[in-house]
Amino acid sequence: MTPWQEIVVGQLGLGPVWRLRDAPRRDVAQPHDGFEEAPAAPEPQRVSSSPPAPPEPKMPRKAVMAQRAIEPAPEQRVPAAPVVVASDSDWDALEHQIRNCTACVLHQRRKQAVPGIGDRHPRWLLVGEGPGAEEDRRGEPFVGPAGRLLDAMLAAAGLSRQSGAFIANSVKCRPPGNRTPETDEIATCFPYLRRQVELLAPRVIVALGRPAAQSLLDRQVRIADARGQTFSFEGVPVIVTYHPAYLLRNPHDKGKAWEDLCRARQLSDGT
Ligand code: SF4
Repeated sequence: MTPWQEIVVGQLGLGPVWRLRDAPRRDVAQPHDGFEEAPAAPEPQRVSSSPPAPPEPKMPRKAVMAQRAIEPAPEQRVPAAPVVVASDSDWDALEHQIRNCTACVLHQRRKQAVPGIGDRHPRWLLVGEGPGAEEDRRGEPFVGPAGRLLDAMLAAAGLSRQSGAFIANSVKCRPPGNRTPETDEIATCFPYLRRQVELLAPRVIVALGRPAAQSLLDRQVRIADARGQTFSFEGVPVIVTYHPAYLLRNPHDKGKAWEDLCRARQLSDGT
């Protein structure tokens, strides 16, 4: 293994970790991001010996109204308008259309739409779920801890955002509170992803997580069942693996993701 591969495998957490016997542990923060949460353990019952607190005084009606006025408005759920992407739409036209799209409810609270980033002649197209808060702010998909892990995964495959890989999402606007996008939102946004696939003509598509897989395969998907299979979208092979945010919370599954990347590499390189 080359020194660079050793670094990458270390970043993915696949290699042994040697630690001085008395050295302090450095635990990695696990961000909440709404992807495939493991079932939470039930909260322990708290028993207090102190007497119950007196009820909070009621807020005056005027104060309640003022409070409501500064809270963000809930999403207005109106029927989504169909997205029509011209079959000859080029990158500029496509990105302009995405950035100005108001077809579904997700446009209401976005800072900006996030079309995607990367090599426009890629070997791999990686598709995630949707932008999070930081992505919404910066206009780029997969930033933050999950993005750094994805970059390490790409580096392990000899790819990067600059060379060989393009990264996009199933929905281009941030679902409020980082919730999972609704099926109708994914369906409304789908023509943009389809046109991206046409323009990119990748050798392989890697679906990161369940919503991305469902978007591309147009069916309900369980990651555990879909892993190891090769699907097809518009003639391009599709493989399904875990979302990097899930892997941050479940590092014991990084080995499976590594296997999936090796399969993607076999498909893209014909080896
Ligand atoms: S998520 Fe997609 S369909 Fe919805 S407003 Fe954004 S770009 Fe349009």
